[in-house]
Parts: sequence; structure tokens; C-alpha cells
Amino acid sequence: MEEILLPHFNERKAPVSLLVLHCSAHTGKEMAACLNKAEVSAHYILDLDGSLIKCVDESKRAWHAGLGSWREFQEDLNSGSIGIELSSLSLGQTPYTEAQINKLIPFCQKLMRKYKIKPQNVIAHSDLAPTRKADPGIAFPWKRLAKEGIGLWYQPRNAEKMQENSVAKLLNIIGYKTDSQEETIAAAYAFRRHFLPEEVAVDEDVHHLVDNIYPLGEKKLLEGEKFLKTLKAVAYSYQNL
Ligand SMILES: [Zn+2]
Repeated sequence: MEEILLPHFNERKAPVSLLVLHCSAHTGKEMAACLNKAEVSAHYILDLDGSLIKCVDESKRAWHAGLGSWREFQEDLNSGSIGIELSSLSLGQTPYTEAQINKLIPFCQKLMRKYKIKPQNVIAHSDLAPTRKADPGIAFPWKRLAKEGIGLWYQPRNAEKMQENSVAKLLNIIGYKTDSQEETIAAAYAFRRHFLPEEVAVDEDVHHLVDNIYPLGEKKLLEGEKFLKTLKAVAYSYQNL
């Protein structure tokens, strides 16, 4: 594996138990340079051609997630996580290459086995930081990966078994932080990106998407029959884990 080692890391304060997937609109070497310039990092970069570049040793705390929250993980998510940056020039709005996904699946499986990472703890950057981040975007193939044991998916029929109706509580059961209305709306949007990507508008302006979690002209709704049904079915998968 090629190495472009980045200096932006420090010591972990927790064992690895979370895997975070990202994307950036740069190809491999260029992405390493951009991360370096921004004084951040990831453990690995996965280039368009499916080649992996190691940037930070897995034993170290890379600076990829920032402040966030997911299930039992609070604030310092970098300490207990591994971060992989995928190249995507559309910021995850058009399909990832087969070469990338064919490399990513066995690589995630290997990391999950090595660190005993649970399927529910393989997540998007947008899942842990819904108010700040949109990556790895609506084209990330979560359903396909879940079939390989990476992340969790849902059975639509399980919606009926979930009695809870509060959107904030359902999102919270899955893992999203929903302490305020702003967080709840952002989490609902991150949920759509992950589980109902067909409901999220494509942002033609990729640069806009870098710093804005809502595509231009998008309505920020907390309703919709399909949304609520899917939310209940997903919450059913994630409860009692
Ligand atoms: Zn990211």
C-alpha cells in the first residue's frame, strides 16, 4: 500500500470501536495535500481507481471527525475511530467507482474483525455531525454494504412494530443527537442521506455542498409518510443493540 504520511495526529484516549466514512472532491495525492494544508488527516484515502493510501497509523488518533455524537460516542469521536476518505469529485452525489467499492468492502470487513467494530458503528461523517457535514453523500451504497455486514439496514415491514411516533426520539434511538430543533432537523436530513437518498435533492454546485448541509432550494421538512415509515423501520433495526 502506498503511504503519504500526514503529521496531523496524536495519541488515542480510547480503543478503536467506530469506523467513519468520508468523501472529498479530490483524487488521492491531491487529497493528501489538501488534508495536510488544512491540518487535518484520515487514516486512509481511497482513490477513484480503488487504490488505498495510508496517511496515519491505525494506532494513532487521526483528525477526521471533529466534534460529534453517535450512540454511546460523545464529543471526541476521533479517539475511538478510524477514518477513511473516499475520492468523489461530485461529493458523493454520483456513484462511487466499482473499483472503490470492491476495495472498500473487504477492507471494512477486515477492520471490523480486527477491532470488533459493531455494524451499527460503521457510519457516515454526516451521521455523527449532521449540523456540519454532508459526506460521504447520497450516492454512498449503504444498502449494498449492509448486505456485507458493514453498517445496518432495515426491513420496511418492521415499521409497524415500532410504537414510538416522535421523530426526535426515533432518530435518537438510531444514534443521532436530537437535543434541539436545529439538531433534529439536521439529523432527519442526515438520516435521509443514509437511508432514503432518493428523497435528497442533488446539489449542482459541488462547492456549495462543501460548507452547506442542505442543498440549494431544499425544504427542511420533518414529515412525509415514507420518511416516517422508513424512520420507524430503521429505528427497529437499531434498538436494543
Ligand atoms: Zn468528512
